[in-house]
Amino acid sequence: MPDPSNLQIYDALASVVKGSILQPGSKEYEADNGSYFSAFENGVQPSYIVKPSNANEVQGLIRALRPHILSGDCQIAIRGGGHTPFAGSANIQDGVTIDMRALKGINLSEDKSVVEIGVGETWATVYAELEKHGLTVAGARTGRIGVAGFILGGGLSMFSPRVGFSCDSVVEFEVVLASGELVHANATENSDLWVSLKGGLNNFGILTSFKMRAFKSTDIWGGITFYMSSDMIDTFSKLIHNAYDFVNNEEDLDAHAMFSIGYGFGHQAVTCVMYHTQSKENPPSLQRFTSLENQVKEMCTLRKSTHLGFTEELSKHSSDGKRQYWASFTIKPDIFLMEAFHRKWQDMITEIKDVNGLTFSFGFHPLTKAMLDSSARAEGNAIAIPPSDGPLFIVLVNPGWDLPEDDSKVYTIVGNFVADLRKLATDKELLHRYIFMNYAYQMDDPIMGYGEESVHKLKETSKKYDPEGIFQKGVPGGFKLPGMGA
Ligand SMILES: Cc1cc2nc3c(=O)[nH]c(=O)nc-3n(C[C@H](O)[C@H](O)[C@H](O)COP(=O)(O)OP(=O)(O)OC[C@H]3O[C@@H](n4cnc5c(N)ncnc54)[C@H](O)[C@@H]3O)c2cc1C
Repeated sequence: MPDPSNLQIYDALASVVKGSILQPGSKEYEADNGSYFSAFENGVQPSYIVKPSNANEVQGLIRALRPHILSGDCQIAIRGGGHTPFAGSANIQDGVTIDMRALKGINLSEDKSVVEIGVGETWATVYAELEKHGLTVAGARTGRIGVAGFILGGGLSMFSPRVGFSCDSVVEFEVVLASGELVHANATENSDLWVSLKGGLNNFGILTSFKMRAFKSTDIWGGITFYMSSDMIDTFSKLIHNAYDFVNNEEDLDAHAMFSIGYGFGHQAVTCVMYHTQSKENPPSLQRFTSLENQVKEMCTLRKSTHLGFTEELSKHSSDGKRQYWASFTIKPDIFLMEAFHRKWQDMITEIKDVNGLTFSFGFHPLTKAMLDSSARAEGNAIAIPPSDGPLFIVLVNPGWDLPEDDSKVYTIVGNFVADLRKLATDKELLHRYIFMNYAYQMDDPIMGYGEESVHKLKETSKKYDPEGIFQKGVPGGFKLPGMGA
C-alpha cells in the first residue's frame, strides 16, 4: 500500500511541477477534490493532487514517479472531467491524483477537417469553439463531461448513427507511456496502440491530446418530450414498441433518440430525447415519438438549436455531488423482454422510492445496425462489435440519492433489479456480451465484454507499450485488463 507521508513522493512531484501540488487541509485541495460529479469520488482522499499544465510535465511526472510505482510505494489516478459515478476511477485514496484539466487547447487543422483537443477540455468548450467556424465533432450528448474519459470509453454521440462510436472519429492520440516517452498513435504510427485506446481507457498511458474529424454543423432539430405515466396511462409500453420499431427498421442516419422512464419528487415521467442532426423538423423517422399520446406539452423542448445548445440542455439535467449508481448491460431488442423489464421497474420503484433525494432513470440507448456498420467502416476499435450482432439496446440503470445511510438499501435493491433483468435477458438468449464502459458499474468487467480476440490484442498492446505493467498495477482505477495483475 502507498505511504501517504512519503516525502520522497512529494519531492518527486515537486521536481516537476512546483506550484501545483495540493495537499489535504488546504482550501485548494478541498475545492479540487470536491469537484467530482459523484459524492463517492469526492469522498476519496489522495495524499497529493498534482496539476500538470502541459505534456512535458506529464512526462516528467511519470519519469519521477516510476520508481515509486514499481516499488509499490505509490499508486496514481488520472483525472479528466471527473464524471465517473463510482469511487476510485479518477481519484485514489492515499495516492497521487494527476488532475489533467489544465491541458487545454482546441486547434483546427489548416483545412479544418481535423481538430486537436487538449484533454482538459469539456465537450461544451469544444463545441463552443468549433461553432465559431460552423463545425462540430461527434462528442458527447452532454456538454459538461470531460473529453478524455468519454473518448477512451468509446463514446455515444447524437451523430453516432453516421459515424459509429465517438472514438471511431479519432485520427490520432498523443500519449505519455509508462517509460515517460510521448508518442503519437494513428493509422500508420503505433497503430495497435491507436486501436487499443479506442475503448481501452487508462490501460496504456496518459492521454494528453487527441485529433478528431470535424465536420460542418448545421442547426439540429430535437429536444426532449415528456409523457404522462401512471397506473392508468402506460406510455412507457407504447414508447418501448416504437423504440423497438425505430432500432430495427429506421434507416435515417441523421435521427438519434434515447428512451427512458424516470422517478423523482414523487412522480414517474417517461421521456424521449431525440435529435435530427440535419435539422429536419419533425422528420418521419422521429414521428413515432412526436406523435405518441399523453405528452406534457408545456414541458416539451423540441426546437431548432445548435449542437452546443442541445448538449447544454442535457447538462442541466444532472448536478454534481449526489451519490450515484450507474449500471449497464446490452440486449438484443425484444418487446416482450423490454415489457418484462418495465414490470420489474414498477415493482422495484415501490421498494426504493422513499430513499432521500432519489432521482432514478432507466433507459434504452439504441445501437442500430447502421451505427455498428459505421463503426466497422472505421479502422478498428477495442469494442469490436460485429454489425451482424445488431441492432442492440444499451440499457442504463441510474439512480442518484443524497444520504450515506441509504447506500446499502440502494445497492441491494438496485443490485437485485439489475441481476433480475440480466437473468430475464439471459434466459431468453437476448443478453449481449457488450457492456458500455461509459455507463458501466464498478464491479462489472466491460473489457471482457469486448470479446476474447479483442482482449488478447489489448493484452499484447499492454505488454508492448508498458512491459512493467505500470498502468495495470500503478493505476488501479477504472476498468483494467483482465488477468494483468491490477
Ligand atoms: C451527466 C452525464 C452525461 C453523460 N453523457 C454521456 C453521453 O452522452 N455519451 C457517453 O458516451 N457517455 C456519457 N456519459 C458517461 C461519460 O462518458 C463517462 O462518465 C466518462 O468516463 C466521463 O469522462 P470524464 O473525463 O469526465 O471522467 P473521469 O472520471 O475524469 O475519467 C474517466 C476515466 O477515464 C480515465 N481518464 C481520464 N482522463 C484520462 C487521460 N487523460 N488519460 C488516461 N485516462 C484518463 C480516468 O482515469 C477514469 O478511469 C455521461 C456521464 C454523465 C455523468
